[in-house]
Amino acid sequence: MKVLVINCGSSSLKYQLIDSETEQALAVGICERIGQEVSYLKHTPNGGDKVVLETSMKNHEIAVSMVLEALINDSYGVIKSLDEIGAVGHRVVHGGEKFAASTIITDEVIKAIEGCNDLAPLHNPANLIGIRACANLMEGVPMVAVFDTAFHQTMPPKAYLYGLPFDYYEKHKIRKYGFHGTSHSYVSKKAAEFAGLDIENSKVIVCHLGNGASISAVLNGKSIDTSMGFTPLSGLVMGTRSGDIDPSIIEFISKRENKTIDQVMNLLNKESGVWGMSEVSSDFRDINVAMDSGNEKARLAFELFVYRVAKYIGGYVAAMNGVDVIAFTAGVGENDHKVREWVCEYLGYLGVTIDLEKNKARGVEIMLTTPESKVKVCIMPTNEELAIARETVALL
Ligand code: AMP
Repeated sequence: MKVLVINCGSSSLKYQLIDSETEQALAVGICERIGQEVSYLKHTPNGGDKVVLETSMKNHEIAVSMVLEALINDSYGVIKSLDEIGAVGHRVVHGGEKFAASTIITDEVIKAIEGCNDLAPLHNPANLIGIRACANLMEGVPMVAVFDTAFHQTMPPKAYLYGLPFDYYEKHKIRKYGFHGTSHSYVSKKAAEFAGLDIENSKVIVCHLGNGASISAVLNGKSIDTSMGFTPLSGLVMGTRSGDIDPSIIEFISKRENKTIDQVMNLLNKESGVWGMSEVSSDFRDINVAMDSGNEKARLAFELFVYRVAKYIGGYVAAMNGVDVIAFTAGVGENDHKVREWVCEYLGYLGVTIDLEKNKARGVEIMLTTPESKVKVCIMPTNEELAIARETVALL
């Protein structure tokens, strides 16, 4: 079956058409600047050149229709007719407590996703726009919602509750949800398999280190804790997000800098993290270059990032009373050997020894530890789109 995977943001729409039998992406692309005067469709057929179309996409429905046109286009399309698309898999950011697994999209499911809108006001409405646009343009094609939060619904209350008055959980559902669930689920399973473990009897820590970054503790195939929380702002220091801070800082900044709560939240989400600390970039490639040329702030940002990762790993080793395999994934985790090396330097107490030559690898599935290492450490590339396509096919 050919599955169209859609990841719809407020002004962008990423897509992949995946052949579920071969698990190959037949085409990948993105619509950017939807709703603006000038929009772009960037479409790359498998084995072909990237095509960039400059056009105007007033809304997401127009964007979806342009994606469908690109997929059947005579010169850069990859299928002859839209009838070849057997299903659509949608990434949905927040499923609240309602969704502990992926689900076939019905009117009721759409209402339930809408019910989670206030938990992810920037993301869920955009995801729903994508779902509705596809429903209008691809009548009768089954659709599946795959939630970023679902995998973490197995966390026990002691991991997901905050130390707030209990009725804030009951009234407002304030709790840890966790994100990047599709990636944590996919990578933890693959890492356990790769390490030769029986998933039902395994302790895996997944370090999803990208522009957004989170760590999870996966015990016997189930997430029991993760570093992102009520929103994706908590936990690790990220590209532009602060990660964990003392909540009192919000009031303090607000008063000292005469900023509204919205402005402080914007600061914590978009102007902090590695970017805010280094004053160089949110991209680890730039941070590495700056560090190498002696930039102290870039070095501090890098050190803080690594230190926080190592501390979360330590916390999750305690939570699981041990660990069998630690997997690095996503843009930084798969590519930045220095991040992996420096994190592993903190893990001597676990008996971790990595092979520095192997650690130079990038973006490939590889075991980094030496045979005598007590805990295995690997790179396990994530593939959220493939995971969404698999979930979609499995449900149908
Ligand atoms: P992601 O959010 O998973 O797409 O990851 C994006 C991030 O990966 C970028 O912002 C970079 O910081 C990082 N990244 C990508 N390639 C490299 C590389 N070769 N070396 C270090 N970091 C990289």
